[in-house]
Amino acid sequence: MKKIKMTTPLVEMDGDEMTRIIWQMIKDELLLPFIELNTEYYDLGLIEREKTKDKVTFDSAYATQKYGVAVKCATITPNKQRVEEYGLTEMWKSPNGTIRAILDGTVFRTPIIIDSIKPVVRNWKKPITIARHAYGDVYKATEYRVPSKGKATLSFVGEDGTEFSKEIYDFECPGVLQGQYNKDSSIISFAHSCFKFAVDTKQDLWFSTKDTISKQYDQTFKLIFEDIYNKEYKEKFEQLGITYFYTLIDDAVARVIRSEGGYIWACKNYDGDVMSDMVSTAFGSLAMMTSVLVSPDGKYEYEAAHGTVTRHYYRYLKGEETSTNPMATIYAWSGALRKRGELDGLCDLVDFANKLEEACIDTLNDGIMTKDLVGLVSEGYAATAVNTKDFILAIKERLERKLA
Ligand code: NAP
Ligand code: MG
Repeated sequence: MKKIKMTTPLVEMDGDEMTRIIWQMIKDELLLPFIELNTEYYDLGLIEREKTKDKVTFDSAYATQKYGVAVKCATITPNKQRVEEYGLTEMWKSPNGTIRAILDGTVFRTPIIIDSIKPVVRNWKKPITIARHAYGDVYKATEYRVPSKGKATLSFVGEDGTEFSKEIYDFECPGVLQGQYNKDSSIISFAHSCFKFAVDTKQDLWFSTKDTISKQYDQTFKLIFEDIYNKEYKEKFEQLGITYFYTLIDDAVARVIRSEGGYIWACKNYDGDVMSDMVSTAFGSLAMMTSVLVSPDGKYEYEAAHGTVTRHYYRYLKGEETSTNPMATIYAWSGALRKRGELDGLCDLVDFANKLEEACIDTLNDGIMTKDLVGLVSEGYAATAVNTKDFILAIKERLERKLA
């Protein structure tokens, strides 16, 4: 069989622990036999980050800006214990945080769903994608534990001399205070990423805040989205037959539960943090959650939503058999290859990505799965747990048949 050719390099970001092992298996068994894989390789494993003083992370993000599409393996975010374990000279920052700061993107998380694993919410038939604004709000807030009686004010001094001051509360007893902020530039980026992703995936976009209560803060989010939609995306949405829909967060929650899925739900930072865990758990498992960072100027970084699965890695190092689920990592590759194919006009690469995903779903529908999923399977479906390698080989068998 002739291997599929690529014209532009895909930015490949390798990672750590169990997912690094799986990364290599996926390349060896599911990609290299079929594609003349053209990647620009960056090793984001913690050892290499230490060696390069984290320069490799920055370089990989710049390469993503240059080429437009990246695929990333899960990586360790060092804490104190990791500093000792790896003998680090510094507690390097989260690579995801660094990449996100450079690309200025929004993270979209979508569950992979299969017939035998029923969502907890019975009427959910299609995936729900959460788009979380990953900047500001409570995550960058300034807080104060008010110790005693006293007056709190909100004040602003503009560079041009504008002054604002308003009493927040005249405390008659101890209490708490919090100051939050966000920036128009970040909200604008968030909006563009969401509208672009909706157009790309041809799905409706929902956006929710609490603007009836937060008449300046949340209202600003609402108005920026509305303005950008009307000026730049309305026509495109109408052509595609998709809709943009704004509602209050509490109304959104009720509608989401009653819906059958199949749309994108854009959330402010905190709402997205909470709702994405709710949605992923209700759909089944973090190991079945795909994740893509989309920048406002249309750069894409695909990854799995889970971490490096440390517990499995330590068992693997002891020579024990592991049954780690590679689905989300395979989908990171298929997502990135499909996007590369679309951008470069390579139909056979797009076709390959689709068939790889079909082969994964067929394998699961045939009841061959990793241990984590077997426990989630509904009554009446047969399921056998296999180790990671055998699972990948079962996918390969089906992929070969599809490509023949
Ligand atoms: P984790 O790697 O997601 O694993 C937590 C647990 O979830 C695992 O022990 C396992 O449960 C289950 N699990 C997760 N993914 C699985 C998969 N693919 N197949 C089967 N089971 C899976 O989270 P963590 O243990 O909190 O973090 C480990 C490391 O990952 C940390 O160093 C953290 O910094 C890093 N991390 C990286 C990213 C990223 O790069 N995007 C995200 C999160 C965390 P059982 O052990 O019960 O089987
Ligand atoms: Mg969270």
